[in-house]
Amino acid sequence: MADDTDSDRARTARDKWESLQQEFAGGLLYCHHRANTNTSKTLEVAAFAYGLIELLSEAELNERKREVGKRLVEQLKDNGMGVMLQQSQTDKYTLENSVQIDCENRVHLCKAACCQLRFALSQQDLEEGIVKWDLAHPYLIARGSDGYCRHLEQGSCWCTIYQHRPLPCRAYDCRNDKRIWADFEQKIVSSELERLFQISDTMEVDSHDR
Ligand code: SF4
Ligand code: SF4
Repeated sequence: MADDTDSDRARTARDKWESLQQEFAGGLLYCHHRANTNTSKTLEVAAFAYGLIELLSEAELNERKREVGKRLVEQLKDNGMGVMLQQSQTDKYTLENSVQIDCENRVHLCKAACCQLRFALSQQDLEEGIVKWDLAHPYLIARGSDGYCRHLEQGSCWCTIYQHRPLPCRAYDCRNDKRIWADFEQKIVSSELERLFQISDTMEVDSHDR
């Protein structure tokens, strides 16, 4: 009887904590949306101003704006500012034709390199509240101190949230990723693989899947 009451209390406390977490994440999401809107407006104005300064002729203005805008975005990223959110509206659960790869026969070679790549979560992931994101770099997928995704089970290299994994994990195809495989069929890893573990690279998926 006492055990039942204790477990009821524990369940209630856990429910409250989870609902608090969801509210907190919702509040942060709102703040980040506002911050992103303001930042992109500021970027636009700054790009225009810098473009004007660098203007050589009227015809070059748009090109200049694009170039300077790109530079500013890079600076913003380097400074760890700004919020990354996947723009895709695709429901991850409806993604068809995701590639089936025999990871179990390859993981000793590739060392699950794909689960070291960085990418932004989607609004769907955030609302779902299952995939963890990096509090210091919203909303990039959370990684541990070993550089691997926090949802990767060490040792087995198994995705612990497989049913809920984000869209880039579903759409990503490592077969032609030359950073990972020099020859996928022959199971020869790329000479760049070790380098990949030292840098913060991104998971590229086809643009229509983003
Ligand atoms: S890099 Fe390719 S083979 Fe290796 S774990 Fe990732 S998807 Fe599987
Ligand atoms: S969510 Fe799963 S599949 Fe995606 S990077 Fe993390 S461990 Fe890998």
